[in-house]
Amino acid sequence: MIASNLNSKVTLSNGVKMPLLGLGLYQTNNGKEIENAIANALDAGYRLLDTASFYNNEEGVGKAIKTSIIPREQLFVTSKLWNSDQGFQSTMKAFETSLKLMQQEYLDLYLIHWPIPEKTVETWRALETLYTTGKIRAIGVSNFTKNQLEELLSIAEVPPMVNQVEFHPRLQQNELQAFCNEHKIQYQAWSPLAKGDALEIGEIKCLAEKYGKSESQIVLRWMIQKKISTIPKSVHKWRIFENADVFTFELSDMDVEVLDGLDSNQRIGPDPNSIDF
Ligand code: NDP
Repeated sequence: MIASNLNSKVTLSNGVKMPLLGLGLYQTNNGKEIENAIANALDAGYRLLDTASFYNNEEGVGKAIKTSIIPREQLFVTSKLWNSDQGFQSTMKAFETSLKLMQQEYLDLYLIHWPIPEKTVETWRALETLYTTGKIRAIGVSNFTKNQLEELLSIAEVPPMVNQVEFHPRLQQNELQAFCNEHKIQYQAWSPLAKGDALEIGEIKCLAEKYGKSESQIVLRWMIQKKISTIPKSVHKWRIFENADVFTFELSDMDVEVLDGLDSNQRIGPDPNSIDF
């Protein structure tokens, strides 16, 4: 079995270990909603929390971390730099704001949320500075295409360690995945359940019945077996536990192929080549 429990991690190119499965926090509100979701996730054994300044809930993430009895060094906290903050000085400032809101001394991972090619060099220099001064344990990007990664790699003094992209059975981006693997950039899946759409796919329903698991568990287990880090979001305790319970069964190679075969290059989110926000 490739990954045997919720503590299973991947090793990033700089040696930092990142959990394979974490809790997504988009559209999770500050206050009781996020504090309960994180408390439930930590009880279930999650250690990776994925937020962003754009989600407007970093304050709630900070409160939940402070309330928890889990030592900070056992957690892996990710945040992301929003588009309007790209640029050297504005990135440095935005990072400090995120740290302050989360009451943190450091972050485990900080990502450029979306590519803005004309700003990448300046923004990346800021991330490199924060990384070398020890304020972030790993740096990376989100929603970068192969071409955008190639450009970044050509100027980077510290290469990106993660690319967090839309990934689910209907959008697999195999060429991008292969490029990331080749350059030791960990692939991380956002919207792994396609916001619930993936759970309606006939083949996935059949596999759920065959393994006696839920549709979401089939999808998430498939990612874990492919060593793709994944961050499903839920604010419901039973789903948070359900999504974490993917380490006690294994999909056969043939069934992995069935899921691989569902790719139809179908996005549910924006195309990074044509964003206008
Ligand atoms: P997901 O694919 O994780 O789906 C979340 C939706 O599915 C919610 O409506 C949730 O409902 C529902 N759900 C969760 N678990 C189950 C289950 N077991 N059975 C049925 N329904 C379920 O979508 P997200 O877009 O939230 O993506 C996950 C995370 O990825 C985000 O939260 C965020 O952290 C990150 N992200 C990053 C982006 C980027 O640009 N870097 C873009 C988008 C997301 P409920 O909460 O009501 O349980």
